[in-house]
Amino acid sequence: MYVSQGELLYAGKAKSVYRTDNRGELLIRFRDDITAFDGAKKDCFAGKGTYNARISAFFFRYLEKHGVRTHFISVCEDSSMIVRALKMIPIEIIVRNIAAGSMVKNFPIEAGTTLSPPVIVIDYKDDAKHDPMLNDDLIITLKIATPDELREIKQIALQINGILSEYLAERGIHLVDFKLEFGKCEDTIFVGDEISMDSMRLWDANTGESLDKDVYRFEKGDVMEAYRQVAERILADQES
Ligand code: C5P
Repeated sequence: MYVSQGELLYAGKAKSVYRTDNRGELLIRFRDDITAFDGAKKDCFAGKGTYNARISAFFFRYLEKHGVRTHFISVCEDSSMIVRALKMIPIEIIVRNIAAGSMVKNFPIEAGTTLSPPVIVIDYKDDAKHDPMLNDDLIITLKIATPDELREIKQIALQINGILSEYLAERGIHLVDFKLEFGKCEDTIFVGDEISMDSMRLWDANTGESLDKDVYRFEKGDVMEAYRQVAERILADQES
């Protein structure tokens, strides 16, 4: 589908957001840029944007089918999607099923420990402040979200965790943790941003190998090969 790309509204570390001819819709372009450690490590890999756009589109469609409201409207070109314009809530909701990453770095827990029930961590989205961790009282005091909105956001995050964990487990992948962002259109909350290998930790269920951005962060091998493997396992269903 062709949609004309209008004015650039925002360029993040790996995606750019443009206006479209339709006021209520935006175009998100997934670039080939990859960054880690707050942008301290940066590279560009041809085709990476396309993998993340296709995987994100797939997960958004899958979640919509399961009754989750997302900003996804349609795929535009290989590396772009059309989405509903949202007023974004400046928080990152991280759902953790297995201890890894910053949880292990910052707290006394061994990597690989199963977290049951899953742990939700919420960070304030602000690169300059290095995304500090929030708690419910701060979110409400700072009027980032109302108590009802916060409850709804957490409930949707756990619902998504259940849906995606099951889907990925059937394809031999553990969903270790992932990050979501939410926004509002009028007073309704939608899942925004992306759901891709840049925003999830995925471990091969047999080998324990990373199949996500950790391959790039910690130089564990060829990150594009890891992304290709996830795309092959996930998109096979869509394309068959
Ligand atoms: O680094 P940390 O362990 O806190 O990350 C938890 C999860 O959230 C990982 O899957 C990571 O890729 C994702 N994340 C993200 N964007 C951030 C911070 C974390 O996608 N700014």
